[in-house]
Order: sequence, then structure tokens, then C-alpha cells
Amino acid sequence: MEQDKLYQSLNERLGKLTNFPKLIGSDNKSISSLLEEHGISRRDFMKWAAGMTAMLSLPATFTPLVAKAAELTDRLPVIWLHMAECTGCSESLLRSDAPTIDSLIFDYISLEYHETLMAACGWQAEENLEHAIKKYKGKYVLMVEGGIPAGKSSYFLTVGPQGQTGESHAKEAAESAAAIFAIGTCSSFGGVQAAYPNPTNAQPLHKVTDKPVINVPGCPPSEKNIVGQVLHYLLFGTLPSLDAYNRPKWAYGLRIHDLCERRGHFDAGEFVQEFGDEGAKKGYCLYKVGCKGPYTFNNCSREKFNQHTSWPVQAGHGCIGCSEPDFWDKMGPFESPLADRLYHSVFGGLGADATADKIGVTVLSAAAIGIAAHAAITIVKKPKE
Ligand code: SF4
Ligand code: SF4
Repeated sequence: MEQDKLYQSLNERLGKLTNFPKLIGSDNKSISSLLEEHGISRRDFMKWAAGMTAMLSLPATFTPLVAKAAELTDRLPVIWLHMAECTGCSESLLRSDAPTIDSLIFDYISLEYHETLMAACGWQAEENLEHAIKKYKGKYVLMVEGGIPAGKSSYFLTVGPQGQTGESHAKEAAESAAAIFAIGTCSSFGGVQAAYPNPTNAQPLHKVTDKPVINVPGCPPSEKNIVGQVLHYLLFGTLPSLDAYNRPKWAYGLRIHDLCERRGHFDAGEFVQEFGDEGAKKGYCLYKVGCKGPYTFNNCSREKFNQHTSWPVQAGHGCIGCSEPDFWDKMGPFESPLADRLYHSVFGGLGADATADKIGVTVLSAAAIGIAAHAAITIVKKPKE
């Protein structure tokens, strides 16, 4: 019954959105013709919609609604700002030679402002931004990529001919946005820019605006998590359920470790001791060569990358913890375990894997210790409801 009500209310919301005028997405082509041009059939599209429905933790019967939301992305004005960053988040989404449905959806969105994609530059670009903010006041989604040099150091990011700072751009654009997504770890938590000693005083987006910010971290985040957030917004029009770090729980509710394909080896105490050894060939757990999967909340182990083909752990390197706050300072060195080192990250200053690091002494004791360590970690750090 609850599900029926939810279905009905989402359906009504999408019905209203259908009446909104189409914005100028991708030469006014429909999404189906855009997909067709790239050899993607309706059947593939519906399969993709079913996958997105499951990812958003919605029942399978909601698939037609998710497909509909994707078709309505051309009603959603998006302003994408670049701050201090490598542009890897944009690259991960848009620059594949065989575009995925996710990247084509993003082509289809009415991207009102995106410095690396739009033709305008200099004063024209500035004007475009001002114009988009005014025209779509209270209606656009703001996506910000990059850490933001702030306060006295804000001049490190000086933008455009008016010499405005990135900080003031971000503040202004946030003021009139309907929803704000921090795309990538830089914008969510400061990222590499904010790594010690943080010479530009780079800050996460939520530190420079008092509006609610949904963090979509990862370095870069997967295109699925970015597009999934857009679909969620189209479907619900509200904030998703968030964890302690304002990450949507549908994507960041579980740890890499919880769904990892090497997890059986962790529990059995079977570890790669060094890259290229017998354990590596057998696909053993990468904890001892630095995997930070037990401390990292993200869905990489389930969704993977590059059209679901692979992800770092499958390719043989441990997770580096890129979707956690301060990961550059707290998760390194990337190829050694955290061991009993004290750190002030997700586990609040505990050397929480001291026990886990001793796993592997003997298979029998290891299995027991592994499970106990896992249980301890789960108790120590459960994301806030
Ligand atoms: S989060 Fe990573 S990929 Fe994205 S802009 Fe920052 S450094 Fe680049
Ligand atoms: S430690 Fe890493 S490789 Fe091992 S099971 Fe956990 S996430 Fe997978």
C-alpha cells in the first residue's frame, strides 16, 4: 500500500514536470533519438533504468518511473561550476569514446553553464553564468566540482575578467539554486587541494554556503552516482536520506568491504602479502597491501566502473578510500595497511584495524579474528541515521 502511494506521488510529480517546457538540451533531440544515434536500443535503455531503480533502492516496479525521469532531464537546468580541481569528475562523466547511457543522459540535460564544455569564454562566459542564475532563479540544480580556496586565500582561484573569486561564484550560484550537489571529493570534503598543509585554504562547498549540500564524493565519483542523484531529484524533488557526511545513503550506505568480491578471503585470513605473489594470482584479499575498503563508504564494489566492467579491487589494487573526508592525509600510504596508527577520520581517532592487521598468522585464528575485527569496525562506525 505504502509502495502504491509512493508510486502514485512520484508519477504525479513526473506528470507535472512533463508540462514544463523543454530546455535547449542537445539540439532539441529526444533522448530516444540520441540513444538510437549511438546504437542504444529501447531495450538497453529499459535495462539501464532497471539497474538505476535497484541502485536507488526502489522496487523493480518503479522502473518505468525512473525511465520517465531520465526522459525528463531536459526540463532540468543545471549550472556546473569548476573550482580548484583536476576536472577528473567531469572527465569521468563525459569523455568516453563509447558513451554510456549515463553520459548521454548528461549530454541531454540542459547544461546552462559548464566552463569546460561551453563555447563561450572570458566576459561572455561570465555573462552566461549571471544570465542562467537570473533566468532559472530557484529552479536550477547547482553542481560544483573542486575545492574552494576561501577567506583570505580566496584569490588563489580568481575567475574571469571581473577578477571574481571562485568562492564568490559558488556562494552566489548556491544562493538561488533549487538543489546543490558537491560533485567529487574536492567539493565534498576539500580533496587533494585541502591536503596538509592546504596552502590555499581550500574548503568543501558546505563550508562556503549555508544552504544544504548533498555530497557525491569519489575521486572521481562514478557517473552512476552523479546521474543517480539527478534522477533522485527529478523523482522526489527532495533531499535523499543522508549519512553523517551528507552522502546519499542509496549510494554510500555500505562500505566497499561489505560487498567486495574478495571478502570471503578476508574472512578466511587469505591475504596478498605483496603485489604479484601467489595470493595476488589467486585473488586473495588486498588488505595487507593497503586496501582501505573496510573504512570506505561507497558502492564501487557493486556498481563498478566503465559500464560495470571492473573496479580497482577487481583490477588488483586496494581501495584508496577516496570517498572519505581527508582521504589524502588519513588513508595514505595507499599501499600499506592503516594498522594501529591513530588517525582522525571515519573512526574518530581509533586505530580500529589494529586487530585486523594481525589476521593471517594462522588460517584458523585468522578467520575468527577477521570476523571479530569486522564486527568491531561495524560497531565503531555506523553512519548516522
Ligand atoms: S575529486 Fe578527484 S577527480 Fe574530481 S576534481 Fe577532485 S581530484 Fe579531480
Ligand atoms: S579489505 Fe579490501 S580487498 Fe579485502 S575484502 Fe575488504 S574491500 Fe575487499
